[in-house]
Amino acid sequence: MVSYNRESFHSREAYTAQIHLPGHLFEELVWWALQALPDEILVGMDIDAGAPHLPEVEDFFRSTEHTEGLFQGQGFIIGEAHIVNRGNSYSVHHLPEDWTDDMFSTSRGSRAGRFTHWLHTHPNAPAIPSNADADAAQETPGVDMILGLRFSPEGPLPWFDDVEGVRRRVGSEAKPTPAKGRRRSFFSRQNLPVLGVAPSGHKIHEIQLIAFRKSGLGINVILVDKEGLPFGWNELQATD
Ligand SMILES: [Zn+2]
Repeated sequence: MVSYNRESFHSREAYTAQIHLPGHLFEELVWWALQALPDEILVGMDIDAGAPHLPEVEDFFRSTEHTEGLFQGQGFIIGEAHIVNRGNSYSVHHLPEDWTDDMFSTSRGSRAGRFTHWLHTHPNAPAIPSNADADAAQETPGVDMILGLRFSPEGPLPWFDDVEGVRRRVGSEAKPTPAKGRRRSFFSRQNLPVLGVAPSGHKIHEIQLIAFRKSGLGINVILVDKEGLPFGWNELQATD
């Protein structure tokens, strides 16, 4: 979370607004996502109306393009999250999004009034919005977030990396350690770093997190502690 916030700070000029997500909630989201593998989950989130962003943190991460009133709930820390749907089926012939996101966008449409922000997961795909995600986001009053997880065994969902967009990793990129000889390509798949193991037994290699507004603008996510301060706050200020 410290390295994620450092990147949020250094790339702050690429964003017009920010959103503060408590670390304990982020851990919960990752845990739910892992428990659901290889399915996708859809999570609705609300702000804590009693917890505005700390002004010194907001100022620190603010870009010159900063815009007020960009989305509902702007300026408030996310307070709670609830799983509202889970994709329980997928096809080996298509990207899982081809139809699960259609299903999700239907439920989003009917539930859009219930939650301010939405998050869904991308099992074995980067956290970059698809066209279906962009359509579904049109109903979102707040921001949409995507949590991308790279895991193995891949099963019918091999890591799909052929997507244009900005990647925001929590931790470092999962790069295979080189193996020798002609079996290299087989072993390179097996030799990805392991961040942890899901309840399903899947090994987790990479976690990505982004937020965006329905207009397509990226929203800068800052991971904060229970006091509302970013993880790594002291060292961030020291390196500013
Ligand atoms: Zn998606």
